[in-house]
Amino acid sequence: RIVKDIFSQLPVVVSHHLFINNQWQDAVSGKTFPTINPATGEVICQVAEADEADVDKAVKAAHNAFRLGSPWRRMDASHRGLLLNRLADAIERDSTYLAELETLDNGKPYAVAYTVDLPNVVKCLRYYAGWADKWEGKTIPIDGDYFCYTRHEPIGVCGQIIPWNFPLLMQAWKLGPALATGNTVVMKVAEQTPLTALYVASLIKEVGFPEGVVNILPGMGPSAGAAIAKHMDVDKVAFTGSTEVGHLIQQASGSSNLKKVTLELGGKSPNIILSDANMEDAVEQSHFALFFNQGQCCCAGSRTYVQADIYDEFVERSVERAKRRVVGNPFDLKTEQGPQVDQEQFNKILGYISSGKREGAKLMCGGGVAADRGYFIQPTVFGDVQDNMTIAREEIFGPVMQILKFKSLEEVVTRANDTKYGLAAAVFTKDIDKANYVSNGLRAGTVWINCYDVFGAQAPFGGYKASGNGRELGEYGLDNYTEVKTVTIKVPQKNS
Ligand code: NAP
Ligand code: MG
Repeated sequence: RIVKDIFSQLPVVVSHHLFINNQWQDAVSGKTFPTINPATGEVICQVAEADEADVDKAVKAAHNAFRLGSPWRRMDASHRGLLLNRLADAIERDSTYLAELETLDNGKPYAVAYTVDLPNVVKCLRYYAGWADKWEGKTIPIDGDYFCYTRHEPIGVCGQIIPWNFPLLMQAWKLGPALATGNTVVMKVAEQTPLTALYVASLIKEVGFPEGVVNILPGMGPSAGAAIAKHMDVDKVAFTGSTEVGHLIQQASGSSNLKKVTLELGGKSPNIILSDANMEDAVEQSHFALFFNQGQCCCAGSRTYVQADIYDEFVERSVERAKRRVVGNPFDLKTEQGPQVDQEQFNKILGYISSGKREGAKLMCGGGVAADRGYFIQPTVFGDVQDNMTIAREEIFGPVMQILKFKSLEEVVTRANDTKYGLAAAVFTKDIDKANYVSNGLRAGTVWINCYDVFGAQAPFGGYKASGNGRELGEYGLDNYTEVKTVTIKVPQKNS
């Protein structure tokens, strides 16, 4: 059952409508759009296309679900946690199907979808389920005859706009904290990968979330996404995607109702290899840091800085590893790398490869198309990359590794920080003092030491500088979905 032939035994799509008020609906306009299997370029099915009118309906549903005295507002916090746990259970029950559907729509290897994405979705929802009745305010000893306390209240209707690189996981990262804290949600999923989120919508209904608490809209960014960002009755928007669109989201808030904005944007994360590092481990982890998920990670280690005395050996071994990377049918369990998500990303990545060659970086392997159909790109390694080259400055979001040489620690920290981004970074060394020096000096929201892409639902993630605002995951992730209300009561006489 697990190994699928991409040309014959594809998972069946059951949900391809808009999910509003716990009902499946056509778009008001009646429009649909095709979602594509990136391994073949073929259309999987048509999906209802939400527009401004549908966003309006969904916001009304979410607003109504949030009204005073509604079932959701009156629900015990522990019961919100129970519903999130039941959702996690239902997703776990249907993990095989969901992983197949994720692979079909996104192109990521099934083995990764099943062993990485799905378990992390379940863990994230369970983690936030636990928080639902533990997110406490304080009593505060202010001066005078008063009793003062804070309440952690939900913000209200939360717009959530998510990308295509980890469709299920980004959905869970957004739903977990929003629902644990009692908000309602209008989520726009990425046009490339709407299918798994819509199946999860059916589970949201199945496990008993009240009508209107979660609404899920497939649709386009400039129409449905923009309608959420500028909506006057959306109280908060959380966005994950490109920095370019992040600017638009922030502007839409500024020119509408100043809704709260959290952003998780791009990166050009430095991965620094010191000459005392364990070579084999550093090569393998750096390969993983860049190539994981077809290179489509916001935190990809896409500037690999290697100390001069080990540079040649590191490049040689990295090239050898990239050449061994198994690219192919994402349903084959041996496959490490599937197709890029769509034609647009495919073209964009090939454009960056051309620019790397044109600007004088040394193409060490790959550089071309890897199959005669679908959006497959060869694992590509560039050596002798200079800081000012386009491939060292811009987010490629593909299987293209940039290796740069450095001499001293001071130099590499300065160069690593010379970017508009600040999402993640890593350092490989056996020297604890050097590790501390580098990790403290880097302007990035996450620093990994002798590892890469280690995530936990318990640990916050997010960006410095143009990589974003706010943090997701962990206790910190709750802040972005909470209004703090200070209540002060006059009392006849206080006593300490
Ligand atoms: P994107 O446009 O930023 O997509 C992210 C989400 O924002 C999608 O749901 C998208 O809808 C929506 N969106 C697009 N324009 C919008 C607008 N004007 N208002 C509101 N929402 C809008 O990213 P992309 O075009 O798919 O990819 C471009 C680049 O972004 C990638 O090459 C990569 O560098 C970066 N990226 C980063 C992440 C990340 O995890 N940080 C994820 C994906 C992409 P549509 O589906 O209709 O576009
Ligand atoms: Mg698709």
